[in-house]
Amino acid sequence: MREQVWLGRCADYDEDALFAKISEAFEALGAYDQIKPDMTVVLKPNLIQRSKPEAAICTHPLFTAAVGKCVKRAGAKVLIAESPGGPYSPAVMKAVYKGCGYTDMAEANGFQLYTDCKSREVPLPHAQRCRQVAIVEPFLERDYLIDLAKLKTHGMVGYSGAVKNMFGAVPGLLKPEVHCRFPDRLDFSKALVDICAFLKPDLSFIDGIWAMEGDGPTGGVRKMAGLLGASKSPYALDVVMSELIGFPAGSVAMLQDSAERGLGPKTSNETDVLGGRPTGPLDFRKAKAASTDFIDKLPGFLRPAAKKWSTPWPQIGKGCVGCGKCAESCPKKAIAIEQKKARIDYKSCIRCFCCHEMCPEHVVGVRRLGLFKM
Ligand code: SF4
Ligand code: SF4
Repeated sequence: MREQVWLGRCADYDEDALFAKISEAFEALGAYDQIKPDMTVVLKPNLIQRSKPEAAICTHPLFTAAVGKCVKRAGAKVLIAESPGGPYSPAVMKAVYKGCGYTDMAEANGFQLYTDCKSREVPLPHAQRCRQVAIVEPFLERDYLIDLAKLKTHGMVGYSGAVKNMFGAVPGLLKPEVHCRFPDRLDFSKALVDICAFLKPDLSFIDGIWAMEGDGPTGGVRKMAGLLGASKSPYALDVVMSELIGFPAGSVAMLQDSAERGLGPKTSNETDVLGGRPTGPLDFRKAKAASTDFIDKLPGFLRPAAKKWSTPWPQIGKGCVGCGKCAESCPKKAIAIEQKKARIDYKSCIRCFCCHEMCPEHVVGVRRLGLFKM
């Protein structure tokens, strides 16, 4: 079946303009007919860490507000739930919601913020890699789930959109455990598809107005793309959006995998794009850590050596304040804080870049051999 992907443009986060655009997407994709007045609709934004909306790391609160208003227009209740990286507790969640601009926004619109932080282990029956994982409860018990991703490049998996956003349903410090179980990029990409396929968001949006290029998902550079996307299929939405920013779906392992499993299309030509396609790709810069696609194309016997020499490593740069957020999120406990500075034990490091993602000072750099920079 050809999936429909709705695309829109917005120059900024003007509340009225955004509401009109998102409402157009709801109409086009039939969401107003699906959402019923007795439902609780769970919105899952990307709030990977406490950061201001203008940093373009998290789904903008006004984007989430516009989607929530459409849900309320359909008569249903709105519950916003998320689990950032690092510890997952009611106090942390309250701080993250506040720091990301969600507390005032939710109060102004009558939305509920989930802070109970309950989760449970569930089997993923059709998984190819991740057969069991803990999931935050509202994502399991919802009547209807809306995935609200941020458009970003990503150090480990190349591109971050609707499929990757579902990884946030795994509670806080159990995320590094998943990294640890699947340290290889291709295995981890398959685990991301396993989790998204299990959660099956009913509707997915991507906030690509202010997006992020380079060393995403937290240490890149914000970029004005002015893009909004929506679909009932997170895979089709990602295929269209990743192509638009210059990452053909075949170059993104999780999208290649979802196409091979028959969950999503191979290219945007296999989708029906509604609302008008922007002209030409927007050419986002790749993350430094993600530029190793050539390895997957080498003969099998050459791959281990090429992988060893080309895989970049994290390096703590100047400006480390010794806060310990990197150590908290390191799945291999390879980081120690000594004399108020982080130090990495490279013998234990699996180069998952969780430390790079979670450093609030953005001082964990990505280093690679000069030959492979070329
Ligand atoms: S590297 Fe970043 S996260 Fe780690 S201790 Fe230093 S400032 Fe904190
Ligand atoms: S030091 Fe950083 S890259 Fe290495 S295992 Fe820990 S979190 Fe991952």
